[in-house]
Amino acid sequence: MSRPVSVLRPRLLLAAFSLLLSCAGALAQGDPAPVRFLLTFDDGPAAAANDNPTVHILEVLAQNPYQANIKAVFFTQTRAWHGGGTDIGRALIRREYAEGHVVGLHSATTFHSNHRFMSREHLDDTMQLGISDLVAETGVAPKLVRPPFWAYDADTLASYHTHGLQMLLTDLNANDGKIYGINFSWHKRSNMLTHLAETRKRWAAGEMPAVDGATPVVVTFHDVNTYTSRHIQEYMEILLDVARELKVPLADKPFYDDHDELERAALAATISSPDAKPQLPGFWNWLWQ
Ligand SMILES: [Zn+2]
Repeated sequence: MSRPVSVLRPRLLLAAFSLLLSCAGALAQGDPAPVRFLLTFDDGPAAAANDNPTVHILEVLAQNPYQANIKAVFFTQTRAWHGGGTDIGRALIRREYAEGHVVGLHSATTFHSNHRFMSREHLDDTMQLGISDLVAETGVAPKLVRPPFWAYDADTLASYHTHGLQMLLTDLNANDGKIYGINFSWHKRSNMLTHLAETRKRWAAGEMPAVDGATPVVVTFHDVNTYTSRHIQEYMEILLDVARELKVPLADKPFYDDHDELERAALAATISSPDAKPQLPGFWNWLWQ
């Protein structure tokens, strides 16, 4: 007679169960490093003499209920007619650096010009100009660049690399860019939740680099935007809150607070190959790719 099924089944079940247990154990052990929010600000500094949004953001980063002396990356526009190209703007670039933030390059043109649409020669010229501008204010050459409109191709990247710059895109985007005519967001929280849920998948799959025991998650704001400036503390609370909701483990210090550690993390998160097709914020992915 054949072996009774009732004897075989418990053994199979036991085998299946122990396999499940060992898988679960392996997953827990190989969990990616906890997340740390890497705050970045584009388009600044602002040039306003009073109630300057960049100044307010610097003050909140230094002092807020969540973590003291947070450091951020500021992607500056060194020649913006209403910002970095003014005396107030230049003083703010010096202040950002003096307060331990990382000063990166966004543009060295009067307007928010698209690097991808420039000739290689023109782009090379503006990169050189922007680097000289930042060296003049901070004494050090920037290592990080962010393309306006997130627009780049192989030639853009080649120009960046020739000038010793690495390109940082973003994981989360506050969609607060003033230049796009959006000066406020009714859906700050749901927007961050959606972006972090997407990022969580890449994090869980081990696709994101870990640096100094944490996984940097890049978040983008615009410090020239007065709405952002007034709500930056609320944005920080939202980030911590959506991480809790999505059960994304955060580092003991959920934001960066050391210049060098911040720069290492940002550099590790940069994109160096034109073949990489990272998810860009909003409709930019559809537009450029
Ligand atoms: Zn920009």
